[in-house]
Amino acid sequence: MKRLIFAANWKMHLGPQAGREFLKAFLRRYRPRPDREVWFFPSAVALEAIADGVRDRREVRVGAQNVHWEPKGAFTGELSIAMAQEAGAQLALVGHSERRHVFGETDEETGRKARALLAADVTPLFCVGETIQQRDAGDTLSVIERQLAALNGLVAAQLHEVSIAYEPVWAIGTGRTATPADAAEVHQHIRRWLVERGVGTRDARILYGGSVKPDNVHDLVAEPEIDGVLVGGASLDPASWTAIVHTPID
Ligand code: PEP
Repeated sequence: MKRLIFAANWKMHLGPQAGREFLKAFLRRYRPRPDREVWFFPSAVALEAIADGVRDRREVRVGAQNVHWEPKGAFTGELSIAMAQEAGAQLALVGHSERRHVFGETDEETGRKARALLAADVTPLFCVGETIQQRDAGDTLSVIERQLAALNGLVAAQLHEVSIAYEPVWAIGTGRTATPADAAEVHQHIRRWLVERGVGTRDARILYGGSVKPDNVHDLVAEPEIDGVLVGGASLDPASWTAIVHTPID
């Protein structure tokens, strides 16, 4: 059975109080299903509140939006993996396009973060994606490969623990969504990359992200190559998030 992942990236929205209110509204509507997991990536200050709110639900997991690879030190403004875990994080985003493009995160840094997370038993959700210029130049697959190369050197058992999110930069927060066929082509390429390194075809978890909404999520998750979705804007409203999580699949 395909177990779909519905992941909410709250970006710099919803502090602890607003996060708790969101969760209350969501859990009132939410009907768990054995073929789905729900992941939340709240702000760092709301991590603990959200993790506490879903502690008794095994299919709901919580993660940090960003972590530092060093265990501690003079890194003002950063969050260590141990701190995130203490707050309840079991997952962490790595290399989200806003980290790469707004904050200048490099491929080398994404690799360090992924390695440090795996060493701490925290699941990285490793994000890759091309800009519109790169797509128009026909460079999509080579860009994705370059980003994935940050994971080179990990053994199959470690890669097995990494989830990947394909998020074309031109689709994030823009209202433009990749078609299921566009996404499938890139997902196939990512899956092949993982399989060549020893991950089982069916074990690879590859999510799509970029302007996913209640009205387009069905066609995306119906595509066999898509193992779930990473959602920004539409995850901030309990009604639209619940509609996404409850998407009927034929
Ligand atoms: C994201 O932040 O990962 C994202 C996909 O955002 P949006 O759904 O708003 O495009």
